[in-house]
Amino acid sequence: MKFDDLRIIPPILKALKEKNYSEPTSIQEQAIPLILNGNDVLGCAQTGTGKTAAFAIPIIQHIHQAPYATDPWPKIRSLIVTPTRELAIQIGENIDQYAKHTKVKHAVIFGGVKQGKQVEKLKKGVHILIATPGRLLDLIDQGHISLKSIDLFVLDEADRMLDMGFINDIKKLLKILPTKRQSLFFSATMPDNILSLSKQILQQPQKVEV
Ligand code: AMP
Repeated sequence: MKFDDLRIIPPILKALKEKNYSEPTSIQEQAIPLILNGNDVLGCAQTGTGKTAAFAIPIIQHIHQAPYATDPWPKIRSLIVTPTRELAIQIGENIDQYAKHTKVKHAVIFGGVKQGKQVEKLKKGVHILIATPGRLLDLIDQGHISLKSIDLFVLDEADRMLDMGFINDIKKLLKILPTKRQSLFFSATMPDNILSLSKQILQQPQKVEV
């Protein structure tokens, strides 16, 4: 299997070539077509499997192909929530690389630092927001972020999210997210509490596993 066989558009293929990715990993091969088709996805995968590109590539592609791709002040269309600052930064760096030949814009927000620079970046407008839960809810409460235009939501590392005590933050977030959306849910493990959370988020999900 090659990336070309996954219906990935040329500007992203070019970026993958520049990263020297020769072929998709198993999770990418399974998840990319499902996500491009608009399915909700329940992904059982650890870090190191290529999980980030599995969701980032179709997200970038979806936005690149939309009429709002070149908006000078874009609204947030995709929200990726992840438990730690390190993961948020890593996802942001990956998106930077895969989207380098597109006009897709993103921002990364996390707690433990002053919010000024993050708010400045948000004011200019982004298509993709990568966030840790606490800072995300803070900036929503302060009116710096609107979730109204979001049509795709990713919950990354759901098991770690619950281990770190973010369940109430996630529930708050689910109350304000538009209900008409595509959702992707990734977790390294799938115990009952995670499956039950996934059922509150996903609609008729396709399962992928590595
Ligand atoms: P992740 O599981 O998303 O944390 O990715 C683990 C590492 O694999 C990252 O350093 C990625 O840059 C790299 N990677 C992701 N997809 C591929 C691929 N198809 N070929 C080679 N490396 C990849």
